[in-house]
Amino acid sequence: MTRVVFVTGSDTGVGKTVVTTLLTCQLRQQGCRVAALKPLCSGGRSDALALHAALGGALSLDEINPWHFRAPLAPALAARREHRRVLPAAVLAQVNQAQARFDVVLVEGAGGLLSPLGVGFNARDLIAKLRATPVVVVPNRLGAVNQALLVLAALPRAAARRAQVVLVTQSRPDASARSNAALLAEHLGRDRVHRLPRLRNPAQAASARRIAAGLLRQLFPCPGP
Ligand SMILES: [Mg+2]
Repeated sequence: MTRVVFVTGSDTGVGKTVVTTLLTCQLRQQGCRVAALKPLCSGGRSDALALHAALGGALSLDEINPWHFRAPLAPALAARREHRRVLPAAVLAQVNQAQARFDVVLVEGAGGLLSPLGVGFNARDLIAKLRATPVVVVPNRLGAVNQALLVLAALPRAAARRAQVVLVTQSRPDASARSNAALLAEHLGRDRVHRLPRLRNPAQAASARRIAAGLLRQLFPCPGP
């Protein structure tokens, strides 16, 4: 059965697309047939465009992102403004179609875990229905440990046990940035906590690729996708 990895986060704008793009590129490099989906976008399709570029033409923009709305609001509300409705079954069908064609399906949510995505559902509901493995993206700053643990507490228990956490380095790291990963690891174990550098130069890009490879080893322990 094709594995589904669901990239969610503690908030909007925390780096979900960066993480999804990195995983996409790394999986392609490993020879894996990967799909990256952003089912719902609101206020622009830049996330879907980034995934489209990372996929190198494996899927069309509309296959990656079937539902997009103009207002920069939670997708459920943005859809309502256009008198449109997105039902969870339609999103699940989109993911299932990709599962039939690819080895791994990455799904990027919109906003944080409980952000309303459509008619009566959020990312947590999709994760549960898809039996997806969550990757939880959290800004590495003061409060990160609380935010990561809140997201894990809100996930279905089985999904929380599988979840991986990515702490994203901020442009101006605060005093907590060096200790958050170790503190979080006391709760989750070292292997489930990943620190992503800022991607400003080639050395950092190489280190980001190593982080992505390490994350994939945790997501697909044996023998790889
Ligand atoms: Mg994004």
